[in-house]
Amino acid sequence: EQLIASDTVNTTCCYCGVGCGVTATVANQQVVSVSGHQQHPANKGRLCVKGSSLHETQQSPDRLLSPMLHGEPVDWDTALGYGADKFRAIIEEHGPDAVAFYLSGQLLTEDYYVANKLMKGFIGTANIDTNSRLCMASAVVAHKRAFGSDAVPGCYEDLEQTDLLILVGSNMAYAHPVIYQRVAKAKEERPELKVVVLDPRRTATCELADVHLPLRPGTDAFFFNGLLNFLAEQNSLDAAFIRDHCTGFDEALAAARAQVPSLNAAAGHCGLDAQELAQVYHWFAGTDKVVTVFSQGVNQSSSGVDKGNALINCHLATGKIGRPGAAPFSITGQPNAMGGREVGGLANQLAAHMGYDNPDDIARVEAFWQAPNMARKEGLKAVDMFRAIEEGKIKAVWIMATNPAVTLPEAGRVRRALEQCELVIVSDCIGNTDTAKLAHLVLPATTWSEKHGTVTNSERCISVQKGFLSAPGEARHDWQIICEFAGKLGYGEHFTYPHQVDIFREHAALSALDNNGQRGFNIGALAAIDRAEYDNLRPIRWPVTTEAPAGTDRLFTDGRFFTPDGRARFVPIQAKAPGLAPAPDQVVMNTGRIRDQWHTMSRTGTAAKLLGHVDEPYIDVHPADIQRFGLTPGDLAILGNGQARYYGRVKEAASQRQGEVFVPMHWNQKYALASCADDLVNALVDPLSGQPEFKHTPVTVKPF
Ligand code: SF4
Repeated sequence: EQLIASDTVNTTCCYCGVGCGVTATVANQQVVSVSGHQQHPANKGRLCVKGSSLHETQQSPDRLLSPMLHGEPVDWDTALGYGADKFRAIIEEHGPDAVAFYLSGQLLTEDYYVANKLMKGFIGTANIDTNSRLCMASAVVAHKRAFGSDAVPGCYEDLEQTDLLILVGSNMAYAHPVIYQRVAKAKEERPELKVVVLDPRRTATCELADVHLPLRPGTDAFFFNGLLNFLAEQNSLDAAFIRDHCTGFDEALAAARAQVPSLNAAAGHCGLDAQELAQVYHWFAGTDKVVTVFSQGVNQSSSGVDKGNALINCHLATGKIGRPGAAPFSITGQPNAMGGREVGGLANQLAAHMGYDNPDDIARVEAFWQAPNMARKEGLKAVDMFRAIEEGKIKAVWIMATNPAVTLPEAGRVRRALEQCELVIVSDCIGNTDTAKLAHLVLPATTWSEKHGTVTNSERCISVQKGFLSAPGEARHDWQIICEFAGKLGYGEHFTYPHQVDIFREHAALSALDNNGQRGFNIGALAAIDRAEYDNLRPIRWPVTTEAPAGTDRLFTDGRFFTPDGRARFVPIQAKAPGLAPAPDQVVMNTGRIRDQWHTMSRTGTAAKLLGHVDEPYIDVHPADIQRFGLTPGDLAILGNGQARYYGRVKEAASQRQGEVFVPMHWNQKYALASCADDLVNALVDPLSGQPEFKHTPVTVKPF
């Protein structure tokens, strides 16, 4: 279906969680150029190099054009019939928990919604998780603990309007480049805007920083526990805000004080210079408008939830929330990580910010969906899901628009688990990802410029990603594939949607159902949207309700939170070290993004311009470690542990702390044999969020 055909189309970028508006120029069924959409609130005309290359990554020689069963092309009816018969047989013999879906923050909200509904309401298991587990699952739990619901309080303007911007575990210049450009512009116009970067590495983002604090990896919660204690000692608390709008302050302060009783103690834990630390603590205490941005450096940790709450505690203690330029601010990795959270596409969520911890929520969703087989307990989170596949407990898995054979920790083990799984279905636009190669059934899905639906970015802003080109070959939209599969399982009556807007309306109606303002996410005012309004939806920040029909820029402006009593919760934090300490002959491997690549490079790896920035796997090594381990800059080196090896070219990098190396996360077996960084990462996870510790893997390093 070609939804829209015109010379220029306003749509949304398909890469990162900034969610930039893109104006695409189309000719002869091809995107010939792109530019930033001037009116989109996320980017106001800007694009980064990935976004501005969207048209150059359209044509992939590996594009999947027809369903493939055991490597042979088949028609859709045969493909989905085969998948449904196998699913049904496995469910009948082993129960619904023997099947699973693994989704992606690259899916649109409508795709996510029907997948979640099918699994949790009709198949009858909550074994549906997503690669967003690897990205922001810890922030979700931290938000829920502090605010009563998973909600980012502020909007991007707050990063420009603040007087002190603290970036924690965020290389924004590479991972969220357009927000970085906005902050750079704000600082140019207002040099008094102070920027502090907390990161073990001196990243490109530090170009903008007044102060870079290269804290010891994993010590973020010590830093914020120390700050909470400091704020109390300096009489810099907002006592009225704490009294009127929060609970649990005394316990949180006691925990922080017991562990980090002084500024010197904080400096010692974090490995920082005490004077520099004092300066930043004083800035936080003395600045009314502070925004603290946190990203993967906080979340990808075996104690990521606690780190998030330690940070939020400091904002609550000083009332720096719910006002322009004042907020704790989680920025997500993927374009629709937040949309996935809204529909409930994580194994520990239910739907529309309702959860398995509330029987009323389960009954409410069950009735709304008219669900015959409602899942009544949480499912398995990503790492546990693939462990259950390895153990043979999950016998069929459907992986949509993601590449877990490369991106999950202990990725080699994941590949082996998939090799012996009874049924692996992959739906994707590319047919030769490392995961697709292991599938029995591969289904061709539409991609950016072909698929049509909504995404939600890091500031709660819902935008339309437009479909304006015809689907190539036999590719179909993910939501259509899922609905047809549901029909083959006998649930077609509940999955008959003439158009994406019908799914969106149902999703919006569910978000408002019995929602008295405590669930955070609510777009009830969009539940009757017509197709033309939907196709041309102007970007809008939720909640979108009858009281706020134009959306909501900031949450908690009245000091009321989404908890039953309306008060925010302080969480007492016992800061923890990373799960594994390096042995004397090891270094700590940190993984992350480079500027011009996205995920496992299935799209960005096809553009020469994007490969021009960095064209091979590398290892950033401190000069002293180059000496210590006998390495030579420009030569290959091997990182290793008991489970795998990673080969990369040595780069001398004074930006590293001694004893720590950095490697890019993008390369995989398709591009470079044995340079898959996540093969080495241990499957240690945060006990609350299930998010893996990608930032702290002890490894040996040797010359090749
Ligand atoms: Fe796309 Fe993110 Fe770049 Fe914006 S910042 S153009 S959303 S990749």
